[in-house]
Amino acid sequence: MEQHTTVVWFRRDLRLHDHAALAAAVKRGNVVPVYIWSPDEEGEVSPGAASRWWLHQSLSQLDQALGRLGSRLIFRSGPIVPTLEKLCSEVNADGLVWHRMYEVSAIRHDEAVRARLGKRISYIESFPGYLMVEPSTLLNQSGRPYQVFPPFWKRCVQGLALKQPISCPRALDSPKVWPKSDTLSEWGLQPPIPWTQGIAARWTPGEKAARILMSRFVKKRVLQYGTQRNRPDCDGTSELSPSLHFGEISPGQIWDALRRFAERESIAAPVWKGWQFVAELGWREFAGYLLHHFPHTPTEPLRPEFERYPWDSTKEHLSAWQRGQTGYPIVDAGMRQLWTTGWMHNRVRMIVASFLVKHLRIPWQEGADWFWDTLVDADLANNTLGWQWTTGCGADASPYFRIFNPMTQGEKFDPHGGYVRRWVPELAHLPDKYLNRPWEAPPKILTQAKVRLGVDYPNPVVDHGVARQCALDGYAEMRAGR
Ligand code: FAD
Repeated sequence: MEQHTTVVWFRRDLRLHDHAALAAAVKRGNVVPVYIWSPDEEGEVSPGAASRWWLHQSLSQLDQALGRLGSRLIFRSGPIVPTLEKLCSEVNADGLVWHRMYEVSAIRHDEAVRARLGKRISYIESFPGYLMVEPSTLLNQSGRPYQVFPPFWKRCVQGLALKQPISCPRALDSPKVWPKSDTLSEWGLQPPIPWTQGIAARWTPGEKAARILMSRFVKKRVLQYGTQRNRPDCDGTSELSPSLHFGEISPGQIWDALRRFAERESIAAPVWKGWQFVAELGWREFAGYLLHHFPHTPTEPLRPEFERYPWDSTKEHLSAWQRGQTGYPIVDAGMRQLWTTGWMHNRVRMIVASFLVKHLRIPWQEGADWFWDTLVDADLANNTLGWQWTTGCGADASPYFRIFNPMTQGEKFDPHGGYVRRWVPELAHLPDKYLNRPWEAPPKILTQAKVRLGVDYPNPVVDHGVARQCALDGYAEMRAGR
């Protein structure tokens, strides 16, 4: 029988389960799995430092998992199209498969690969899987992309017909001779400074860990998600964001795990499909959808009038925010959690983002850049949506005039102060009443708590009331077109 050889181009689908492209390759014969490192590719946004760390670990895990199936991962670097072309010719491949991504640059690659290799390679195919809904297939009644979440998600859920996740192959057939491969370490993805120690202590990248995390969350926490998801002091959310970003787990697998759990617990489909956790998966779909239809939004506001907003770019303020030294405890706790672990709770992301753009009036792009570099789950679609939503300049965004009060947010969502005390230990002995507003504490209380404001912990970089008014004035100025 004729033996086919298929190259499987891994992208942000670093898993072996529910991998349609791999399954198609396995059916054909020999499989050559490849990952291409091309950070300088035109139109691509190069991954940030924390993402690179994760990518290194995840690729290493994938290589080991492939090894257990009698295969391996080939590491190549360089521009996508010529690199794939060279590899296909080296292994004499007659098949090339991959999963589709939906950023405009990724679509351009897909088209270029097809154009260059389509004639030489008889079986060339891409598969869905990164999102549950293909963004190009969905438009509103006026034939335009949705910009409001509820009708978008309602349409998605109505039309969703997900297949059963595909099992992991039992073994892979390999070529007689493996092509050359870079070593992962020569790509230098791990920062040469000890910064990632906290990240390494906190996370276990890779498909196996993602599957364990998912099943624990679904079994033990999904029913409490609705009440706990806004509490940064509880482990109330799934923490699957980096795994979803790198495709160590697919949204279809999560959907299927939820469906099976609901069946076991006799929970009707309309009930579980209405869960808040399911809606968050919907926000991920919405983010990918918006980035696909509005590719300029990582750098430009979706609502162009925000180009006129009178931003202030005081460097010291940006630096205080980045270092968790603003003098607002919940903001500082979030920024320190981010720096130490590469992740931040969603509620706190909203608070710190609002503080940057509204209290400090620093352009949201500066915040998005910092997140991009420091988040292990940095995701162009979700990050863009999160920043534009908080700023008020994006789709279905929070109105600009809704300005989070960092004191009351802290008191409401971290009611016992566990989160602030953990990340801002210099305030650990302050009573709850003053924990989010240490400048209001009487001198005696500060002394008892061993806090010298301005020495052990900073005074607020801006006054809340004044900053709030400046933000609103800026908004009025923008709307008046001055
Ligand atoms: P869960 O609450 O368990 O949610 C499950 C999954 O749904 C998440 O893993 C994520 O994939 C998706 N999701 C949840 N909330 C959102 C949301 N608001 N928008 C889009 N998808 C969502 N998320 C990222 O994955 N990468 C980013 O770079 C990113 N940047 C953000 C920036 C800002 C300013 C804000 C406000 C939010 C950002 N988010 C980002 C969204 C959200 O904060 C994280 O997805 C979430 O905190 C991840 O934790 P989790 O996995 O426990 O989420």
